[in-house]
Amino acid sequence: MFNKVLIANRGEIALRILRACKDLGVKTVAIHSSADKDLMHVRLADESVCIGPPNPTESYLNTPAIISAMEVTNSDAVHPGYGFLSENSDFAEQVERSGFTFIGPSPETIRLMGDKVSAIEVMRDAGVPTVPGSNGPINDNSDINIKLAQKIGYPVIVKAAAGGGGRGMRVVHSESKLLSSIQLTQTEANNFFGNGVVYLEKFLERPRHIEIQVIGDGKGNAIHLGDRDCSLQRRHQKVLEEAPAPGISSKSRDLITRTCIQACRNMKYRGAGTLEFLYQDENFYFIEMNTRVQVEHPVTEMICNFDIVKEQIKIASGDSLSISQEDVNIKGHAFECRINAENAKTFLPSPGKVNRFHSPGGLGIRVDSHIYSGYEVPPFYDSLIAKLVTYGNSRKEALIKMKNALDEILIEGINTNIPLHQDLVNDIEFQKGCVTIHYLEQKLDV
Ligand code: ADP
Repeated sequence: MFNKVLIANRGEIALRILRACKDLGVKTVAIHSSADKDLMHVRLADESVCIGPPNPTESYLNTPAIISAMEVTNSDAVHPGYGFLSENSDFAEQVERSGFTFIGPSPETIRLMGDKVSAIEVMRDAGVPTVPGSNGPINDNSDINIKLAQKIGYPVIVKAAAGGGGRGMRVVHSESKLLSSIQLTQTEANNFFGNGVVYLEKFLERPRHIEIQVIGDGKGNAIHLGDRDCSLQRRHQKVLEEAPAPGISSKSRDLITRTCIQACRNMKYRGAGTLEFLYQDENFYFIEMNTRVQVEHPVTEMICNFDIVKEQIKIASGDSLSISQEDVNIKGHAFECRINAENAKTFLPSPGKVNRFHSPGGLGIRVDSHIYSGYEVPPFYDSLIAKLVTYGNSRKEALIKMKNALDEILIEGINTNIPLHQDLVNDIEFQKGCVTIHYLEQKLDV
């Protein structure tokens, strides 16, 4: 096991990683920007290093500063969390070249999955179902593209191979807009991502977002930890997640998880990852793989009673998977509400001082949060301030616990989206389960 791990992130996930390190008896180094010296994990870490000013490009995205911090503190490994440098293959490569361990997949795997076209190819080879489409970059020939779109059937979506964060996509409803949309997306993709490769997919009109959590040990062993439903989204940002996804037959669940594991074995995947799918009319369609721990990993941890972050660290240190698929015992149901420092109606960020914070508790309640009474939420970063997670023996029980926990939690001094979550857990359609990815935005419109 490592002696010392540097945590290259901030906020709740940095604290989550710190806790996993402590459980493993590993020393921790917190790095932080000058705006973040009061973060909870900075106080709790064995050592801390200020690596730059508030602007993330000069701190949390500053590879030379992070590697210097690893050298100065004599760290063995770096955990990137999510966001920031977590899916940056160049960063992973430079960490390894400098003689340290990157807690995550190999740079090659990150690169392969970061390109959506190559990711789709890998998945298809393993039998993972993908969205009907061009199965690769589209042709330069307009006639061929017109015929292809006809064959796929409108609406279609033009997507950038290097796209991310909901950028580099364009829905096309009719042939008259096809060629101009392809050209626009190519230009945008070139400008944003420095890679103009685009591909075509059938646009699914009322899908759910369902994802599969996987972990591999880099030696060809891989397991899955079941699925999550993350359909409640606003502007492609997840708001409230649950595990397992409701209303999926055990037959299609078995089939999809089997192919996901096959894909991970083929890649000799190392670390935690998530295969994201659109799910419509009882069919799964792969859209992308995230090669890192996800914000919503706690719902999976609750139903599997398994620590994903600890497993990431153990695998990076050279261990084989600590459990086999037969040991994975999925039981009960979990929800996660992402609590953001923002206005619940306008969604405008609401940084500032948390005058008072009371965390709910009790059996089946988990709060992953870095805030405390007196903490000042800085204006420079993502507005996520807490993840409220509940676990129950049934979906209904977990939902009742969430309602009660939302009533109990108290965050004073800043605006939060707690009222939105309270509204959602009382929503009849959501209570039934199985809403599509458009449900929340449609609900907010009225
Ligand atoms: P990003 O990497 O930018 O998040 P994704 O490929 O994961 O891109 O797609 C983001 C979102 O765009 C999906 O969650 C879904 O809402 C929508 N989307 C992507 N592809 C399709 C498709 N073929 N049909 C319908 N919606 C899609």
